[in-house]
Amino acid sequence: MNDTDDPTPPIRRRGLLKGTGVAALAASATAGGIALAQTDEADAAEPTVRLRWLGTNAWEFTTATATVLIDPWVSRFPTGAYTPEGADPETEIEVHEDVIDEHLPRADTILVTHGHWDHIADVPYLAKRTGATVLGTETHLNLMRAMDAPEDQLSQVVGGEYYQFATDTDAPYTVQVFQSSHSAGGEHKRIVFGGTRPGEVPKRPKRIKDLVEGGSLTYLIDFGGVSFFNAGSANFHEHEIAGIRPTAVFIQPGGGHTPRYVERLLEATGFPPYVIATHWDDFDHPLTEPAVPGGGREALEALRDRVAAASPDSEFLLIDHLEHHVF
Ligand SMILES: [Zn+2]
Repeated sequence: MNDTDDPTPPIRRRGLLKGTGVAALAASATAGGIALAQTDEADAAEPTVRLRWLGTNAWEFTTATATVLIDPWVSRFPTGAYTPEGADPETEIEVHEDVIDEHLPRADTILVTHGHWDHIADVPYLAKRTGATVLGTETHLNLMRAMDAPEDQLSQVVGGEYYQFATDTDAPYTVQVFQSSHSAGGEHKRIVFGGTRPGEVPKRPKRIKDLVEGGSLTYLIDFGGVSFFNAGSANFHEHEIAGIRPTAVFIQPGGGHTPRYVERLLEATGFPPYVIATHWDDFDHPLTEPAVPGGGREALEALRDRVAAASPDSEFLLIDHLEHHVF
């Protein structure tokens, strides 16, 4: 079901959605990257969304008219995050603009789930280059201001917001923001690089420990019938998301301190047709090679089994680095 990203035009992606009313689309390369164009067979009632994985919790949603990114981080410098010692807090932040330009040609909206380096470190540069709107908490935005993010593109949210984007096209999409929490760990339920930076813009973050969590958010992105729920960490607030019914939910390995994380998330989201594994790669390894499971292959298989047991009708999608799936 997942195709290796192939920049050679034209590529046709048809009949990949197990459902009804999917638009038939032809994808063609343009100067700005891959563009999706509806054919005359298209059913206007259902949009088509091309979902591409850029490692960690970095996802690109592309429709005929818009590109939405979640936690777009592709610079991937080594930190030791998946070693027994964990990430070295003193690791200097690197922003590889050439890598960002290569893999992330476009963005209209950028959604930030929390402030850790593997989620936001590339966003200031990317926002400046693309002109995209960036959603995040006061802390996330302050950290990005300190990294020269363009002030007038920053949209501060707290959870509870419901916004419509691309209002001047016939294919608007909506984003709902929900309050959440980062997964915690250890004997005392502590969050790695926890804390907030309200008020004053802090000194420019230099080391990964400077990019504090700063509150966590989850997002429901609805492209008009095809919708996705994403949390950047293995946690969520059940009462905040009560009643949502996404087409697909992202789930990551981990969450050992979150009771019945997988089962409760599937139940809270109505046992969605698709479950997509996210944030499962050891990001000390290159994005341009197949993903190396951070917790070992067994952790990924355990996640697949848990999803199958809790929601047997859901299709489990394992999309590899730079591959995509068309909904
Ligand atoms: Zn994190």
